[in-house]
Amino acid sequence: MESCIFCKIIAGDIPSEKVYEDDRFFAFRDINPKAPSHFLVIPKEHLPGVAKLSDNPELLGQLMILSVRLAHEEGLADSGYRLVINQGEDGGQSVAHLHVHVLGGRALAWPPG
Ligand code: 5GP
Ligand code: ZN
Repeated sequence: MESCIFCKIIAGDIPSEKVYEDDRFFAFRDINPKAPSHFLVIPKEHLPGVAKLSDNPELLGQLMILSVRLAHEEGLADSGYRLVINQGEDGGQSVAHLHVHVLGGRALAWPPG
């Protein structure tokens, strides 16, 4: 999708610090990290958010499995980490391209603000 910043990051039109890439998924460090480790895992297919995934459990499953794998490759398996998907305005979603936040490297507060 032309106007989407995450599609531009996948295409390399906006630079990013890449963590992982394969034919379906891309991961890169968040530009405004909220924890010592904070990266985003996204499908290359432009989907606006998790709310649009009711008909695609396979993609959501692969996205979550990959997020766990990358969290462990980041060295977070023992200390723990958090996977977050924000949906819509009240969920705090600011970019309308489905993404999983992987956060770790410090104790994270709960509940979120
Ligand atoms: P959301 O608020 O939609 O759940 O998360 C969007 C995330 O994308 C935010 O944490 C924000 O810092 C990150 N972000 C927005 N624009 C860019 C960018 O151009 N590059 C990178 N690396 N991250 C971005
Ligand atoms: Zn997009």
